[in-house]
Amino acid sequence: MDILQTIQNLREELNLHNHNYYVLDAPTISDFEFDQKLKQLQELENQHPEYFDENSPTQRVGGAVTKNFQTVVHDFRMYSLDNSYSKEDLTDWENRIQKVLGNVAITYTCELKYDGASISITYENGKLKRAVTRGDGFQGDDVTTNIKTIRSIPLHLKGNNYPKKFDIRGEIILPLVGFEKMNQDLIEIGETPYANPRNTASGSLKLQDSSEVAKRPLDCLLYSIVGNNLPFQTQFEGLQSARDWGFKAPPQAQLAQNLHEVFEFIDYWDTHRHDLPYETDGVVIKVNSIQYQEELGYTAKSPRWAIAYKFKSEQVSTILNSISYQVGRTGAITPVANLKPVQLAGTVVKRASLHNADQIEKLDIRIGDTVFVEKGGEIIPKIIAVDFSQRPESTKPTQYITHCPECQTELVRNEGEANHYCPNFYGCPPQIIGRIQHYISRKAMDIEGLGGETVGLLYNNGLVHNYADLYELTVEQVLPLERMAQKSAENLVNGIEKSKEIPFENVLYALGIRYVGETVAKKLARHYKNIDALQNASLMDLILVDEIGDRIANSVIEFFENTENQIIVNRLKQYGVQFEIVEKVNPNATQKLAGKTFVVSGVFTVFSRDGLKEAIEDNGGKVGSSISAKTDYVIAGDNMGPAKLEKANQLKIPIITENDFISMLNETQN
Ligand code: AMP
Ligand code: ZN
Repeated sequence: MDILQTIQNLREELNLHNHNYYVLDAPTISDFEFDQKLKQLQELENQHPEYFDENSPTQRVGGAVTKNFQTVVHDFRMYSLDNSYSKEDLTDWENRIQKVLGNVAITYTCELKYDGASISITYENGKLKRAVTRGDGFQGDDVTTNIKTIRSIPLHLKGNNYPKKFDIRGEIILPLVGFEKMNQDLIEIGETPYANPRNTASGSLKLQDSSEVAKRPLDCLLYSIVGNNLPFQTQFEGLQSARDWGFKAPPQAQLAQNLHEVFEFIDYWDTHRHDLPYETDGVVIKVNSIQYQEELGYTAKSPRWAIAYKFKSEQVSTILNSISYQVGRTGAITPVANLKPVQLAGTVVKRASLHNADQIEKLDIRIGDTVFVEKGGEIIPKIIAVDFSQRPESTKPTQYITHCPECQTELVRNEGEANHYCPNFYGCPPQIIGRIQHYISRKAMDIEGLGGETVGLLYNNGLVHNYADLYELTVEQVLPLERMAQKSAENLVNGIEKSKEIPFENVLYALGIRYVGETVAKKLARHYKNIDALQNASLMDLILVDEIGDRIANSVIEFFENTENQIIVNRLKQYGVQFEIVEKVNPNATQKLAGKTFVVSGVFTVFSRDGLKEAIEDNGGKVGSSISAKTDYVIAGDNMGPAKLEKANQLKIPIITENDFISMLNETQN
């Protein structure tokens, strides 16, 4: 079979598995097999850039960076929806439309109202062409590269009875589990968590780096197809067609023969919406017949044939018993409200987050107050207000704590930061334990046989004071600990021993330097190659690394300036922990570009900047940081700086495009 055929078969197969996994939620192969096939495809595509396809499943990982999103006019306007808040409102609505239609029986499609960011995606000849945000309804931003990273959105449609060209509309959402996970990761590195899934979803669409979007667990729920000559007569059939073509149109949508059945749908979902994996703030009711829809038409801002019904957000009142203060791994203090237990949205609520001192002051919340609690996007409910009419006499404004509840050190609050923190990094128990727990966690040193709780035990029994101490532990020492047996003690010690093989980039992440998350750790590890180079880097030097800003650079400097950290790092070195990158041997590596030096400038579409540099080095070329007489080629993307352009012209260095570079890889013989 020829290469192109193999590539096409792989693409088709992977598209199908993507659909099974992300749309139908029913995978038929293992993740491992899927990854293997994807890797195989990626390798073939690397070797044969001439078969590049922007809609290949390999493009899902993103990479392209968009500096300015282009404004695009919608072929069909994106309307808003009128709102209703009661059954009377809906009855009034039906009366209004019946006047226009002349007292016919009206069937409705009832759907959930998904709470995210609206999107309109254009398909032409079965291929995803463009995705545009709602904007002002007339025109929005072209966010195609970001949208393509969302796995449940088909790049190629299934079947063959789709219109030649149509737009499909839906909502980009962030399922609750994924949202919580993202926040957990942020808290891990000492960053402020996101406020709610909706804003995070819409913010994600405007990220410049599509590979960052690819990492977010976004999903897309589709609800309407617009275009000319559509092959269905009703909204409900439209949803079914969308599913047939490979889209995720949620199965909860239901036909209602009359308003009474609409009310049943509303009542059902009012109580069951919290069982859904994502947020919904209401129901959308649509006249089912498209012919009727056309007769009804639009007002200045919304269709007359559809209306949203908003659920009342569930609130209860209860009493604030006390406020406790938690100390995180980075020392950040989070106040938590301890409430008189109360039933809310199907669960018993005992605690609510109070975020920070400002929040407490804003609410003017005091012990003994009756407070209103609401369940929003977060799993932890929040306090929205105090019922001042119920305030007991003689309460005093809440005094925020001034000292750490764990180590009694005076708290500090940096200008511009929301949270207080305990500055006693090296002596505050939850910070010490938290750092060791982070060190052993899966994405860091991934130490098998050692869990978070055991870390607490080890610390409390005086066996470890920092993560370097782990490497001195013996089976005899840990054996007396609670719930330890010979076998588990041996596993623990072996697990720690094995962590000496964990690659440098994970080790760097494991050190728990503030603001150095997984991605930054990778960047720094690849750039500096070993810990000594990183440790010796100056502030300026660090800032010059792609995507490293002031804040991260300062944090790195501060970490290595600390003598305690220096001692710990030296000890880890002596134990044999990896502090150097092991260069991977790339099976596709060639010497096609040997002896040539390239300078890369601007923003690219096929490659990310790092990807482009990698491709040069993988093929034996060198990447220069500035244009000089030694430069052989400048690869210019969008927005190449004018100074560089002039310099290249002065020195008469050929300026080539990304595509020229791809052809170069392709043509040059070994
Ligand atoms: P609003 O922004 O409150 O005017 O509500 C209108 C928006 O609701 C639309 O622009 C859609 O993005 C969104 N929406 C969510 N779910 C649906 C649905 N099932 N049908 C129509 N629109 C929906
Ligand atoms: Zn403390």
